[in-house]
Amino acid sequence: MDARLVNAMQQLGDENLLELEKAKSAGRPIVGFYCLYSPVELAVAAGAAVLPLCGTRNDPIAAAEEVLPRNLCPLIKSSFGFAATGSCPYFQAAGLIVGDTTCDGKKKMFELLDAYRPTHVMQLPSEQDSEDSRRLWRAEVERLKKRVEAYAGREITDSDLRQAVALLNRERAARKNLMDVNRLHPAPLRGSELVTVLFKIGFLLDKERGIAAMNEVAQTMREEHQKGGGDPRRKRILLTGVPVGLGSDKVVQIVEQCGADIVAMENCSGYKQTFRVEEEGDPMANLAAAYLATPCSVMSPNPGRFAMLEEMITGFSVDGVIDLTWQACHTYNIEAYRVERFVAETFSKPTLHLETDYATSDSEQLRVRIEAYLEML
Ligand code: SF4
Ligand code: SF4
Repeated sequence: MDARLVNAMQQLGDENLLELEKAKSAGRPIVGFYCLYSPVELAVAAGAAVLPLCGTRNDPIAAAEEVLPRNLCPLIKSSFGFAATGSCPYFQAAGLIVGDTTCDGKKKMFELLDAYRPTHVMQLPSEQDSEDSRRLWRAEVERLKKRVEAYAGREITDSDLRQAVALLNRERAARKNLMDVNRLHPAPLRGSELVTVLFKIGFLLDKERGIAAMNEVAQTMREEHQKGGGDPRRKRILLTGVPVGLGSDKVVQIVEQCGADIVAMENCSGYKQTFRVEEEGDPMANLAAAYLATPCSVMSPNPGRFAMLEEMITGFSVDGVIDLTWQACHTYNIEAYRVERFVAETFSKPTLHLETDYATSDSEQLRVRIEAYLEML
């Protein structure tokens, strides 16, 4: 990975921890989120700092397994382990946690998480396209607004919300701008670079700083591409399925070591974060509509994922698709069958479905399967 990029991200991370300390000392409300379905705009509108808290590292999993079953998704165990061990400065700083009833494991974990921090759980419907689902979700967004107002000690006005929506839309646009750099051929950003930048910037308290940093990296990468950087022989792979971050990116790294690149990620740590909330009209209705449309496998049915896959496979000119499932994630595991058929029927391409966890014990097995898959492309 480019040393300048590593240093820049490291510096941003270090400065951000200092800012977190300052925010805590100043008594600024801090809200932690675990899922893309939760409208962070409500917390931003209340003047709170917002933090993504999904666990991406293996180290706290052993502690989590003292309470949670072992055959549970590593993301859930890692998230809970960070809370139980008090080892995540971001979780420790949060005064309110927001979760959603997405998959069974996560929603039951949130019941236990409440013992560590006040946890508000949004009741997410599992279907997106009916009047009943929309009504329920709209009511849940209202309920979250009241909870955030009570925690932050201030009322959220429509004007606050509109400003928050505009800011978060700019952040999502910057994320898209960064990821879209890899529509170029050869891809200017390695998958591991993409994961690092998106992950580190996700924690920044200062959203404007994050927006500027993502646009700057995108601009630099476009300029380097014009100078002829990159290797056109490397296969271009789309990663779909579960989210990945620093610590849970072993598949991204193995693909790179095998001479190919993850050029795009369709998951909720990647391109699923590029949606836009309508800025005209009722902000609460707009928020509810935009967030409910998130195309995650916890929805049944989940047509939005296939539309996104179709656009991305074409737009990023990919050679192959790797569909990643965390162990015990039933929704992504079952949906893998339809993804494989969809990619085969629409693009005549094979999909490699991998099921793994955060440990490195199966790295060599994964490498053999990834090498064999790349040979086929
Ligand atoms: S995979 Fe789905 S349920 Fe899990 S964090 Fe992402 S959007 Fe939420
Ligand atoms: S990866 Fe799957 S099992 Fe894990 S939290 Fe997300 S939806 Fe739930």
